[in-house]
Amino acid sequence: MKKLAIGIDIGGTNTNFAFVEASGKIYFPDKILTYKYENEKIFFENLYKKINENLKKINFDFEIIALSFGVPFVNFYSSEVSFSANLKWKAKVNVKNIFKKYFPHLPIFVINDAKASALGEMFYGGAKDMKDFISITIGTGLGSGIVSNGKLIHGKGGFAGEFGHIIVDNKNRICNCGRKDCLETYVSNAGIKKTALELMQKNNEISILREIPFEKLNAEIIAKSALEGDKIAIKTFEITGKYLGKNLANLVAILHPEEIFLSGGISKSGDLILKPTKKHMKINLLKIFKNSLKLSFSRLKNNEAAILGAVALFFFNKQIINN
Ligand SMILES: [Zn+2]
Repeated sequence: MKKLAIGIDIGGTNTNFAFVEASGKIYFPDKILTYKYENEKIFFENLYKKINENLKKINFDFEIIALSFGVPFVNFYSSEVSFSANLKWKAKVNVKNIFKKYFPHLPIFVINDAKASALGEMFYGGAKDMKDFISITIGTGLGSGIVSNGKLIHGKGGFAGEFGHIIVDNKNRICNCGRKDCLETYVSNAGIKKTALELMQKNNEISILREIPFEKLNAEIIAKSALEGDKIAIKTFEITGKYLGKNLANLVAILHPEEIFLSGGISKSGDLILKPTKKHMKINLLKIFKNSLKLSFSRLKNNEAAILGAVALFFFNKQIINN
């Protein structure tokens, strides 16, 4: 009989989930659209429904032994989300208590989604033998999980590592966290779109992006246009990479990781984002760090890093907590 944990990665756009063995083998991955549900109550009801539908599809002997969630802005110690930049949830949401109703006999774990990705990297991905690395997830927002000296950094209150919300400029870009000019407002799906729009406003360069209605324009279309040679689209990724690379160089000065892994929707942009990011990280790195670290895309599949990391919190709990 296969023993499976349910790994759930709640993001601003998609909520991905799957049934996972301790080895990291994934069964029946699926998703629901997070933003479609107006509040947390309807969202969790529908998530439970979808998980149940998929449980019925399992055609071998199995036992579900745990559930584990990756959730943005969750407090690691209380499992509570009291504020979230990219979710439509109100007041305080305790993910553990909500799901306890549906699975009263199972242990439930909850961790920040970007920290979950770092654990995914640590136990199933490219960081298996590393003690110092950083995992950066870029999609709806920008999240990070920092592992230093073998330990995932939580900080005093459980929120440490919000690299997406360091203030990086003074252009008055409003961030979903309520402040201005966080890195996430430049390096995320919305940030990339905003940069493209600004470039189009500032100059008269011909661009296929001008033909696309505002609500349809997104990072994926901009990437596709860049690959087709569109100058505005190419410049957009250069600017995005500059913001990311420069600020990664700052992060390296504090943490000196062995490798930085990028994951999330941005990975689809490939070299368009990786090349300028590497270039500007290199330009801005302190001399003592030159040639001492790598920057690469996660080797885990796009939607799997946080799911795997969430279940790792159950399967390797003692190792993670006592480390
Ligand atoms: Zn912010």
